[in-house]
Amino acid sequence: MSIIKQLPPHEAQKIAAGEVVERPANVVKELIENALDAGATKITLDLVDAGKQHIKIVDNGCGMTPEDAHLCTQQHATSKISCVDDLSNIGTFGFRGEALASIAAVSHLQLFTRHTDTKEGVKLVLHGGTLKSETTVAHPVGTTIIADDLFFNVPARKKFLKKRETEWRQILQLVHAFCLENLALHIKLSHDGREILNCPPVTTLSDRVAQLWEPALSQNLITIDANHGRKNIHVSGIISNHQHSRFDRSRLYFFVNHRWIKNYTLSRSLLKGYLNVLPPGRYPAAVLFIDVDPLDVDINIHPRKEEVQFLNPRSVEQLLQTTVKEALEKHLSNQISKPVQFATPDTTPAFKPAMAQEYPTTPSPLPFVMPADDPFAPASQPQKTTTPALAASPNPVPQPQQRTVAPQTPTQQKQFNVIGYFKKTYILLEQEDGLFVVDQHAAHERVLYELFSERFDDVATVKLLFPTTINVSTEEMSLLADHLTLFTNNGIAIEPYGEQQLIVTATPVHLKNQPLDDIVHQVAGWIKEEQNSMQDNLHNVINKKLHAQMACKAAVKAHDELQPDQIQQLLRDLYATNNRFTCPHGRPTGWLLSDYEIEKKFKRKN
Ligand code: ADP
Ligand code: MG
Repeated sequence: MSIIKQLPPHEAQKIAAGEVVERPANVVKELIENALDAGATKITLDLVDAGKQHIKIVDNGCGMTPEDAHLCTQQHATSKISCVDDLSNIGTFGFRGEALASIAAVSHLQLFTRHTDTKEGVKLVLHGGTLKSETTVAHPVGTTIIADDLFFNVPARKKFLKKRETEWRQILQLVHAFCLENLALHIKLSHDGREILNCPPVTTLSDRVAQLWEPALSQNLITIDANHGRKNIHVSGIISNHQHSRFDRSRLYFFVNHRWIKNYTLSRSLLKGYLNVLPPGRYPAAVLFIDVDPLDVDINIHPRKEEVQFLNPRSVEQLLQTTVKEALEKHLSNQISKPVQFATPDTTPAFKPAMAQEYPTTPSPLPFVMPADDPFAPASQPQKTTTPALAASPNPVPQPQQRTVAPQTPTQQKQFNVIGYFKKTYILLEQEDGLFVVDQHAAHERVLYELFSERFDDVATVKLLFPTTINVSTEEMSLLADHLTLFTNNGIAIEPYGEQQLIVTATPVHLKNQPLDDIVHQVAGWIKEEQNSMQDNLHNVINKKLHAQMACKAAVKAHDELQPDQIQQLLRDLYATNNRFTCPHGRPTGWLLSDYEIEKKFKRKN
């Protein structure tokens, strides 16, 4: 006796339906796409229980004739292609002719439609794909589809549905994507009788973003537009700047040739562009349209067309990453350069007179020491700062080349328009479009981090008159022993001193007053974590962490009072530093409180 049976057609159809419609969001997607393909400019969606109980969509597209209304719920019935060759050059969303048949197979479906050329509409009722009734009805031109009791006849699939909130989130994200992609479309969405979205047509993407998300976000957007001419790739859209971030990726949208897709590598490339701009674990908002030659992308790799495969994925990723990085840099340097509304040094004091009295004008030794050969350091600074416990040389670590700096008189130095100093931590700068607030610790940390990692040769070191010892465990000693170059390459001269002690004989000048115990223990911990990596990689990873740690230790802290000249110096250093918008841990070094935000707080603006 044979154990193989041929499934009856309606059972086979139910299984096939699962490929196209796995959950309510897929149904909603197919129905919206059909409405758009039919030229609709207004779409109204009503859902109950995240679409599990009821999905209703009304569109004002071209509608269908009674004959087409019959055909459209049958398998492989489509008006969009007639042969497989058409697949490579498709302009519509649908093309498989499977969606309506699949939805009909697993729901109680009602279809109302009237074609532009007909006077009357038609209503079809189908249960599990079987036609139950057909009537002539009055209906405006366009189509209304109601799908009730989704998966009523496929209990296994129904059981598989996620929690109501999860299903609803997916639908909402999907509807957002359609809104972002179709600015001329009026979309309305309600759920369990509550209106959730009512988005009339707009002319710009940032207006759409303001409609969908919070209006203030549109103040923090950067427009993107870039081409990779040779490969025929175009990236456009908007991304949020460093002042907006979220804990999740729900505001990352990618469209490839006008089709919303999910692609992990694209998000990763985008996020790489944000490196050093957002704190770890925070995500921007981005709506990006990637256009490529239809022949360079396969949209047919996923049954629901949610993923794509590029012919040149690397080129796309690279273009995305560099475009985002450059756009952020440009935007951010505009922002931070704006506060450089340099007061004319001769006539305008950097501080208002009242404040100038509060700050002693005699320069005091900087709590953050810029090495004398730092190109940004003012010539008036002492050549080398020493303390009674330190001697400047000889030095066991490579000595930086002494550079001559053209002497700058204070009047030649740029003055930032500092209008205040809040809590001895935040520097307030007035600028054309708002108040720029700089966190002195984060700013100094970044300046030092870049100095340590980029221009290490420029960092002056000092030999300690009284070398310090650091107690370590035998395990730490065994971890550290082979990696002491991590320290010496960074200006910390350190050697084993017995079984459980290390001796430090010189440090970078910035760290001269800092106990190094913490750093040494931390490095031992990092080596332990990374011990399975190759030596080069281990050193790279740890070097970065070490630079961040050294910068953090050496930087001025919150509430360390800076003098006006030191504030100016810090701002000049920051201004001349790469990646100056965040500290090495990803916290921002400065924030712009825009006029708009301030005026909004005072209800001068909505
Ligand atoms: P596909 O979109 O892949 O062609 P569907 O099953 O989604 O397959 O739809 C089948 C056909 O039904 C479409 O090709 C189209 O001609 C017609 N159709 C579906 N929905 C609509 C609608 N909202 N307005 C007008 N025609 C529609
Ligand atoms: Mg379709």
